[in-house]
Amino acid sequence: MKLSRREFNKALTALGASGFLLSYRAEIAKALEQAKNDGVKLVWLQGQSDTACTVSLLQAADPDLYDAVEELKVNIAFHSTVMPAFGDEAIEVLETVDPDILVLEGSIPTGDMEVACTFGERNGREVTLVEWLNELIPRTKVAVVGFGSCATYGGIPSGKDFTGKSPTNAVGLYQFLEGKKPSVPVILLPGCPGHPDWLLTVLAGALLGVVPDLDDYWRPKTFFSALIHDNCARRGYYDEGWFAESFERSDMKYNTCLFKLGCRGPMTFSSCSETKWNGGVNVCMNAGAPCIGCMHPGFPDETNPFFKEQSRLEIDATKTLFTTLTGTVLVGAGAYIATHAYREHKLNNKKNREEEKK
Ligand code: SF4
Ligand code: SF4
Repeated sequence: MKLSRREFNKALTALGASGFLLSYRAEIAKALEQAKNDGVKLVWLQGQSDTACTVSLLQAADPDLYDAVEELKVNIAFHSTVMPAFGDEAIEVLETVDPDILVLEGSIPTGDMEVACTFGERNGREVTLVEWLNELIPRTKVAVVGFGSCATYGGIPSGKDFTGKSPTNAVGLYQFLEGKKPSVPVILLPGCPGHPDWLLTVLAGALLGVVPDLDDYWRPKTFFSALIHDNCARRGYYDEGWFAESFERSDMKYNTCLFKLGCRGPMTFSSCSETKWNGGVNVCMNAGAPCIGCMHPGFPDETNPFFKEQSRLEIDATKTLFTTLTGTVLVGAGAYIATHAYREHKLNNKKNREEEKK
């Protein structure tokens, strides 16, 4: 496949990640095979994580991509979960490798908690993730990729405790690289876990020498421009004001929206409600679970308390923030507020009519 950056972005936008993978899977497999033959080195570091993002990638659902993933696996120069080498032999790879692509899974503990994540030793002293990143990022030749919410913006390990401070001082690449962004592109794919199709698409693109258009949070615009809420299968129920009041009635069969159960779809930008998971089979809301905003850059502190209704004000404030930061959704925000106001107006009318009947 010889796609220009423009063609790549156009195809991605037109087809979405799953459609793109479906249409170009043969070329992607070829690109990965070629990368292996060319000795392209992929280094995958794990910070504070539960390895779910690795599991997510290995469960990429398209069976035709299985071989491609296998190729990718054997081509990984360093990955503490899947590489056969261990101990000094494994660490030796990190000491000498100049990665083509560096993937980070998991968050980065910093400051006095930096020692909470170490691998390998030098002169009898453990080497921290911060040190490895400071050494490996400048040596990376093609792209640095943050996969999952922890690696991108800190995620769960960075959550604040009741004193309002993060006990781990954990950050994602977005904060870690603030003011010292490398010359190669940094592509961030939040999600808890990250979406395997999106990572494969980004890796294939990077190996082919093209990087998707990124937003101000360094995320591919294709996957993070639309509100989850706008493509949700329950959106019609929201507009009608049909809300589930309890988890006993959150199943799809009740034809309700999960807003009052704390759904963060109206404040989270991601195409997961469109792409879905497991080969397009399902997504949180369709399975009866409100979105907890795992792809939101402020997850978890800005999206909790989970399962509690988000007030109108908070949603609009978040939208205003996004508008200021991205400069691209002014019209959408206006339309959203208008829609929300209209919905509330409809709800009030309905309530008044019901009270009148009584
Ligand atoms: S379930 Fe959530 S994302 Fe879906 S329509 Fe309701 S509020 Fe929006
Ligand atoms: S719907 Fe919400 S909680 Fe579910 S994957 Fe998407 S962003 Fe995460």
